Amino acid sequence: MKPSPPGPLSQPPSQPAGRGGDPSLFVRPDLRALAAYHLDLTPCRHKLDQNEVPWDLPRRFKLEMAERLLAADWARYPDFHSDELRRELGRIHGHPWEGVLVGNGSNELLSVTLTALVSPGTEVLGAEPSFGLYRSFVLKAGGVPHFLPPRPDLRLPADELESEVERGPKRPLLLCSPNNPTGDALPVERIERLLDRLQAPLLLDNAYGEFCQYDYRPLLSRYPHLILFRTFSKAWSLAGMRLGYLLADPRLVAELIKVKLPYNVGHASIAAGRVALAADEEARRRVRLLVLRRPQWMAMLSDLGFEVFPSEANFVLVRTQKPKEIRETLEARSIRVRDVSGYPGLAGCLRVSVGTGASLRAVQRVLRGEPDRSPARPSPPGPLSRHATPLPGRGGEEHGRARTSADAMGRLAPSSPGEGGGVAGEEGRGGEGRAGAGRIGRVERATGETKIRLELRLEGGARRIAVPNGFFGHMLQALTTHGGFGIDLEAQGDTHVDLHHTVEDVGIALGEALAAALGERRGIVRFAHAYAPLDEALARAVVDLSGRGTFHYSAPPELAAGWVTADFSLTLVADFFQALADRGRLTLHLDVLAARNGHHAAEAAFKAAALALRQAVAFRSGAAEVPSTKGTLSV
Ligand code: PMP
Repeated sequence: MKPSPPGPLSQPPSQPAGRGGDPSLFVRPDLRALAAYHLDLTPCRHKLDQNEVPWDLPRRFKLEMAERLLAADWARYPDFHSDELRRELGRIHGHPWEGVLVGNGSNELLSVTLTALVSPGTEVLGAEPSFGLYRSFVLKAGGVPHFLPPRPDLRLPADELESEVERGPKRPLLLCSPNNPTGDALPVERIERLLDRLQAPLLLDNAYGEFCQYDYRPLLSRYPHLILFRTFSKAWSLAGMRLGYLLADPRLVAELIKVKLPYNVGHASIAAGRVALAADEEARRRVRLLVLRRPQWMAMLSDLGFEVFPSEANFVLVRTQKPKEIRETLEARSIRVRDVSGYPGLAGCLRVSVGTGASLRAVQRVLRGEPDRSPARPSPPGPLSRHATPLPGRGGEEHGRARTSADAMGRLAPSSPGEGGGVAGEEGRGGEGRAGAGRIGRVERATGETKIRLELRLEGGARRIAVPNGFFGHMLQALTTHGGFGIDLEAQGDTHVDLHHTVEDVGIALGEALAAALGERRGIVRFAHAYAPLDEALARAVVDLSGRGTFHYSAPPELAAGWVTADFSLTLVADFFQALADRGRLTLHLDVLAARNGHHAAEAAFKAAALALRQAVAFRSGAAEVPSTKGTLSV
């Protein structure tokens, strides 16, 4: 913390605060005058108040992060400045790594940068309304906020800022684009015009940059006084890990590094960041989905009578006559939005995160006054909340969806091992039926996003597959044909939003059907592996019907994030088998060892998995128990 500037602020506390006195009076009076940051963090069903994305990082990446964390030596300090993460970020953004600085959230870096740049009493330019913490960052740094007043249309005041910069170009400018809480963003040329006029740094907070049509990064190489702040808290699903970074001129970063504390980012955040970056296709998918959903939210809110402001972020600002009443009505139904009506210029305004389809329907239902069939509050935290643990791969989305199934269908999900669906295992249970007369698993799942009916017959039979995507159908045909399974599958899904829900939910259903058909898994081969080529492509699957869901996957890096067809990305193969492994309670190592195109890679992977599964589910001759080095395997 900087020492107090000279002048009235350095006066001793007005009341003696020695023995028996109030020690809070020792705090600098300008800082005592700050309001504490406060938010309601109690659990709610639809959390739309903090601009987070609705989906947790898929479980397989969290497991990878946990592995990395286990491998780290906790007794040792982390790297001073998280250099490996800086290098990866530099590579991703095409920016010299020495010009990257990593912090405990981008908040920390904003504060550090202002502390480094602002001399006591210096004016810092900005605009209202914007991110609430800016004022306190400037004050803590000893600066004087000079934030322009809101425009009536709530757009970022580009012309006004330009004039202000021309009037005094040596004042740092702190700007948020896309702006929180309005969602407005400045085109690149407008930022460029400001940079052309400024003779001081432009601190450009780009926390929502991934959702925005304008990319400011190319400006970095031409304007050494531009500092771009980014965060892992939004598009990367890591708000809980506290990780942010800035991109700037390496000469400036060399100085900022002296102001920031060493070891400001611990092993856990570094590991999370590196795993998230390695899974960048996941982040891209999340962003694509939210950008697609944004107009749906805007249309829904506008239909409900709100004035809706344009947004380039993952949230939408709306105005109404009765913000308090609406916020409370939603809160009573466990939907939390942010009342921003106290911000300058924002009387009557609420800010709503772009959430899942389930959240959208919930908001719509409540504000239309339709009956809500779900309980008003989520389960309290504690042992019961284990049921609400987001399922692998789709995190909070799945959490919402399981309940949506009950809401939307107006009935409770049948009691079953999995949320949102019913499973029946037949004739395969216990040692009976060993002759293999018919190991059958049946699943019905209905959620807000997909509707699936599936019968899987391990002993073979007819194959009827109806799914809303040709390539996916082709893959399921390959899986069941080479697996020797009979199947009757009918799946519908919200493919107009994204194919992902349907692919993953069919994986879940197939896994559950497989687990049900396998029953207690006595007498089966259990371990198996297979290679499958398809021309130049080669895939390997190693299976253990272990009773535990574990999935490992790899594909050649140049193909891993690519597209198989115009609407089927290769990552869907991993998502499908992850769901299958989780719900089928099996270990699956699936590696695409070579491939030149995505189609061949996917098909070889499905065939290898099929061939391995076919062997693993077969009965061993004369066996009665599931083989295990620990004795009989309990499943
Ligand atoms: N800048 C803006 C505009 C934000 O809205 C937020 C978070 N709400 C942040 C920065 C802080 O991000 P982080 O979690 O990286 O500290």
